[in-house]
Amino acid sequence: ENEKNTFLVPGRVRVAVRLRPRNAEERLADADFADCVELQSELKRLKLRKNNWDSDTYEFDEVLTEFASQKRVYEVVAKPVVESVLDGYNGTVMAYGQTGTGKTFTLGRLGEEDTSCRGIMVRSMEDILTNISPESDSISVSYLQLYMETLQDLLDPSNDNIPIVEDPRTGDVSVPGATHVEIRDQQSFLELLRLGETHRIAANTKLNTESSRSHAILMVHVRRSVMGREDNLSDENGESSHLTKPFKPLVRKSKLVVVDLAGSERIQKSGSEGHMLEEAKSINLSLSALGKCINALAENNSHVPVRDSKLTRLLKDSFGGSARTSLIITIGPSPRHRGETTSTILFGQRAM
Ligand code: ADP
Ligand code: MG
Repeated sequence: ENEKNTFLVPGRVRVAVRLRPRNAEERLADADFADCVELQSELKRLKLRKNNWDSDTYEFDEVLTEFASQKRVYEVVAKPVVESVLDGYNGTVMAYGQTGTGKTFTLGRLGEEDTSCRGIMVRSMEDILTNISPESDSISVSYLQLYMETLQDLLDPSNDNIPIVEDPRTGDVSVPGATHVEIRDQQSFLELLRLGETHRIAANTKLNTESSRSHAILMVHVRRSVMGREDNLSDENGESSHLTKPFKPLVRKSKLVVVDLAGSERIQKSGSEGHMLEEAKSINLSLSALGKCINALAENNSHVPVRDSKLTRLLKDSFGGSARTSLIITIGPSPRHRGETTSTILFGQRAM
């Protein structure tokens, strides 16, 4: 099986797992205990320890150990999606995992002090900027937070209930109410990410919640001038008029969506009440709706239940169909979190 080709099967979700290295606390407190997982990156396998003598083995499209560089992670997980976005297809890169396992490190690191630390968002923009032609193509970016089924603009805090709009004819999803910033260089993109992060912290302080309880969604809209014929939309009789359309300059639109998902840890519903309970329900709703959609894609099920949550409605035209999707699941090494690590691994397995 040729891995490069399977990636380009539209509608199939490619799943990579990434292990975070032990942090200082884990090195000390769990010094006598082995990691709960053992990675075999060449074999693309992960062994999850059940006890001292027994483990379960899982296969993934890519297995990234604690030694995998940010550059390698980008090349394996995101670069093929970015390339297909440049070719005119929509694409998504998502990170799923327990809080503290490296979702934001993987996607959102700016790497200002040390460019080798730059994450997927910054590397994707760099690749996009170097591959478009500035005279005829354009890039614009929106940066959103989805919290408790409410879509907020991270580039304009006063804009805190953005509707999702779907074009009934094409099925394209857009958020015209969100700020769209034209990006011409990497510097302005970094400033935009910093601004978004500042607003995210402020918004979450105001709401008295943590950023791990919301999804952060970066949308990169790419508009390119290409020579071609207008889409051969079928007429009422299903007849295609493709050949009669003249060859001329067209604008081809596509988008890259990068999603830093809310922490997947099971929230104690029984112990929480009031706002905490509502928050927990809302996160469970959106992550399980996402799981159902990804499962439907994996099973080639023609019904993908995107209506169940705002997250999946927003992603509707970014996965499935002709879109390319990459899911990175992040896990920690600590044996104390084996339960959460197991459920993250199973989420990833169901996507394949
Ligand atoms: P999450 O977004 O999933 O809650 P973070 O990305 O904030 O997790 O990571 C938690 C901590 O672990 C941060 O201090 C981060 O710098 C560190 N970390 C995460 N992944 C890695 C990695 N691959 N290498 C080194 N440090 C990491
Ligand atoms: Mg995070």
